Amino acid sequence: MDSSTIAAVATPEGTGGIGVIRVSGPDAITAVAAVFRRAPFGQKPSDSDTDASGGFKSWRMYLGHIFDPVSGTLIDEVILAVMRAPYSYTREDVVEIQAHGGSRVLEKILNLLISYGIRPAQPGEFTRRAFINGRVDLTQAEAVADLINARSDASLDMAVSQMTGQLSNVVSSIRQSLVSVLGSLEAAIDFPEAAGDEMDDAGQGLRLSIEVLQQINQLREAYESGRFLRQGVQAVIIGRPNVGKSSLMNCLLNQQRAIVTEIAGTTRDCIEAFLTTRGVSMVVADTAGLRRDPDPIERLGIEKTQEYMASADIVLHVLDVSLPLDDEDVAIYEQLMDKPVVIVINKTDLAGHEKVLHLSPAMEEAPCMAVSALHGTGIDELKQRIADMVFSSVASAGHGFIPNWRQKCLLDQAAEAVSKVIAGLENQRLPELVSIDLHEAISAIDEITGKYVETDVLDEIFSRYCVGK
Ligand code: GDP
Repeated sequence: MDSSTIAAVATPEGTGGIGVIRVSGPDAITAVAAVFRRAPFGQKPSDSDTDASGGFKSWRMYLGHIFDPVSGTLIDEVILAVMRAPYSYTREDVVEIQAHGGSRVLEKILNLLISYGIRPAQPGEFTRRAFINGRVDLTQAEAVADLINARSDASLDMAVSQMTGQLSNVVSSIRQSLVSVLGSLEAAIDFPEAAGDEMDDAGQGLRLSIEVLQQINQLREAYESGRFLRQGVQAVIIGRPNVGKSSLMNCLLNQQRAIVTEIAGTTRDCIEAFLTTRGVSMVVADTAGLRRDPDPIERLGIEKTQEYMASADIVLHVLDVSLPLDDEDVAIYEQLMDKPVVIVINKTDLAGHEKVLHLSPAMEEAPCMAVSALHGTGIDELKQRIADMVFSSVASAGHGFIPNWRQKCLLDQAAEAVSKVIAGLENQRLPELVSIDLHEAISAIDEITGKYVETDVLDEIFSRYCVGK
């Protein structure tokens, strides 16, 4: 493993009250000590502040100045947090320099450290070291990125549970079961004369393998139904012109309207915006409508609408309560096929004297919400309805956490191998052959936690992190 000492700014770009530079590796403490003068300035530190060699104690904070020893120039007043190996994020010596949060000052401190032989860290390199040094497994390391990127309470909760090792525990118990099946198979290979025991072992191995397959399949299902929590839902607003789609979009966004972005390349634009509601992150798209006889300019907008409809997780089909249902409404509804849909009956403020809308029998089957986008009534209930649809799909997965795509692909591989193990045991195939499939299942499981993982897979995973993490 690369044993160089690395450093990076760990706080986001831009200005802030505090900016943190993280330094990790064998030379972290000596390099920082070389450019640091303690406060109270001019006074010697007392014994209780330093270790036996006069150096920094672990898990202490030190106030002082960073200065350039060559020119003597003072750069900033800082606080150092010192964490000696192995009790640190990376399990190496770590110093976090809490400076003032200006990009120029942080850059100066970083350059000073680099001039002392410290190397700038790659994206994710601190977490990669935490993984390589055995502080966390790969699922926990991946959860750190999820935690940083979490945009809703639900995805935050999921990242925290994964970071504290809940997914690792399930995966480890799967591994243990597979190893115990392997143990009995290997006993059968080594001691074929113990024929009676072998029959018992095969029966037990089969039961255990079936249980393992169920556990793996539960995790795979959790991925399918829970990807909403990871990625958020794509809720698409659709309906014919003037039913109130844009007004509904504005209502859903409230003051967040400022982040609405136009999607380039459409003449009658589709507009997309991000919001978080009831702990679920949502991308809402207001579409251009679906006229049946479009002119060439409108056609572009319609194609975009159709793309949105195809990728939608939930469709909000808006109808105007003051107008009779027309062919276009029905045609739109028919195009939604098997998408989860909520019929949003808008303009209910007019309903008292102008309720002329009657739903088609097919529409009557769908959940219906009455709103007034003009007055904002019914909007909270609509948001709740969308969140309920998301949570009911996640609850049915039966797990508090959801594998990511990489983990899901490995679970697929493990499921296939375990299915072969089950078939092999049922058909009383040679234990030598069944054990090949078992080994395959175990190595897929090991790749999830990173027990065995190729360097290029690690490169790919950690390159998605930010520098300083
Ligand atoms: P879009 O073409 O479907 O995006 O519809 P708009 O949001 O542009 O709304 C069309 C017209 O309907 C505008 O004049 C809105 O003010 C009006 N409108 C939208 N929602 C309501 C509502 O809930 N009640 C009433 N009375 N008018 C509404």
